[in-house]
Amino acid sequence: MISPAAIMELKQIVGPEHLKTPYDDLSAYATDGTKLKYPPDAVALPGTGEEISLIMLLANRERFPVIPRGGGSGMTGGALAVQGGLVLSLERFNRILMIDRENLIAKVEPGVITEHLQQEVEKLDLFYPPDPASADVSSLGGNVAECAGGLRGLKYGVTRDYILGLTVVLPTGEIIKTGVDTMKGVAGYDLTRLIVGSEGTLAVITSITLRLVPKPPAKRAMTAFFRDVRAAAKTVSNIIREKITPATLEFMDRQCIDCVRDEMDIDIPVDAGAMLLIETDGDHDVVEKEAQKLKDICLRSGAMRLNIATNKEEFDRVWEARRGVSPSLKNLRPGKVSEDVVVPRSRLVNLVSSLNDMADKYALPIASFGHAGDGNIHVNILIDPDNREEVGKAGLAVKELFEIVVALGGTITGEHGIGITKAPYMELEFPKPALDLMARLKAAFDPNGILNPGKIFLEKKAVL
Ligand SMILES: Cc1cc2nc3c(=O)[nH]c(=O)nc-3n(C[C@H](O)[C@H](O)[C@H](O)COP(=O)(O)OP(=O)(O)OC[C@H]3O[C@@H](n4cnc5c(N)ncnc54)[C@H](O)[C@@H]3O)c2cc1C
Repeated sequence: MISPAAIMELKQIVGPEHLKTPYDDLSAYATDGTKLKYPPDAVALPGTGEEISLIMLLANRERFPVIPRGGGSGMTGGALAVQGGLVLSLERFNRILMIDRENLIAKVEPGVITEHLQQEVEKLDLFYPPDPASADVSSLGGNVAECAGGLRGLKYGVTRDYILGLTVVLPTGEIIKTGVDTMKGVAGYDLTRLIVGSEGTLAVITSITLRLVPKPPAKRAMTAFFRDVRAAAKTVSNIIREKITPATLEFMDRQCIDCVRDEMDIDIPVDAGAMLLIETDGDHDVVEKEAQKLKDICLRSGAMRLNIATNKEEFDRVWEARRGVSPSLKNLRPGKVSEDVVVPRSRLVNLVSSLNDMADKYALPIASFGHAGDGNIHVNILIDPDNREEVGKAGLAVKELFEIVVALGGTITGEHGIGITKAPYMELEFPKPALDLMARLKAAFDPNGILNPGKIFLEKKAVL
């Protein structure tokens, strides 16, 4: 609970027009991609790092939680005010500060929407590869905080691989710069990498220096349909074994295909059990050669049908459909529990057969899609949220899924983070000494635990 005196002080810091209280409609800030609801006590929309610094000092004095928030598309509840407190929206930090064509870097504020940066750099024939399917709504600050991945991870890596430096406000109020504005730099501990993926628990990001690459001159996309998921998973292995690294190697199972079949508007076999969406990019001649090779591999691996996009409209339609899979799953069942597990690519087939077994065991439909090239599959357990039995069974299925994934040498999250929804499972992946070290790091940054409490770790305080 934030005291009335602290609310007055917050108004003075950010200006009354940039502080929302329960007298305003706070519903937009109470939820995120999880659809869970935790109304905050207030929402501040600061305009400068100095204002954020003053807010942190006040929060330490008054001991209220501060929850950084970008586009609110997070899938694990990272931006939710689970213990009440102040949501700190970075939406006014929405400027691209510079794009340096000579040094291939850009400097942005964290509230810039990912797609906006992608479009602006592409106008200059440059490329910012990280491409979460939520690029039109997620912010770069949220991408950094979650280390977002996306559709081009296989060839280009994830957000972490493009972050050179950050300006951040520490929970204790100091403003610091981490990392470099250059291509290289190894001085000191790598605080940038520590903060990337820290889910808003270590610092508030106020500016980001990003690495850009030249825009690939050509690209080709194709869809390949298979009788079942096993055949598609095998094809993924065959593509990698033949030393081709497509920009994108995405996968959908039968239920996901059926959800977006009409939107794709391409010829899809009625009995298709799995689909791969493959994109290759680079120089024109390389792209043509790779596309031919990919086509051969898919057909050799048992593809029932293969469509190579022949024009931009077809290309865009298929991409739109892929980006729309997650929300359109609600056409199948009213609710879903979405996980984003990763296994070594060579074990995708094992994961897939475990998912089939689990769907039978729990009598719940499981729809999966995702970044097969990275071994990163979004597993969606479809439920009716008003049916208590189904909700209970989904909880058991999630735990079993994580146990299987860890046993296969994988991880419980590839890109959505831990947030609140996966915090109970950290112990499945990390031994106690590693968790204790993480808790000590958190306490070193945030001795009073005011920045985004209740995230990543089940509530426990570290002793330094
Ligand atoms: C339809 C859909 C598709 C998606 N597809 C993908 C995908 O392909 N790949 C992927 O990786 N993710 C995906 N996501 C998840 C989500 O979009 C990403 O996690 C994204 O990075 C969140 O960004 P955001 O701006 O919405 O962050 P928010 O949801 O606002 O916040 C997420 C976390 O970041 C912290 N945070 C936000 N801004 C800051 C800041 N300035 N400083 C410090 N901490 C901050 C918050 O405290 C919170 O912990 C998808 C989500 C949806 C709804």
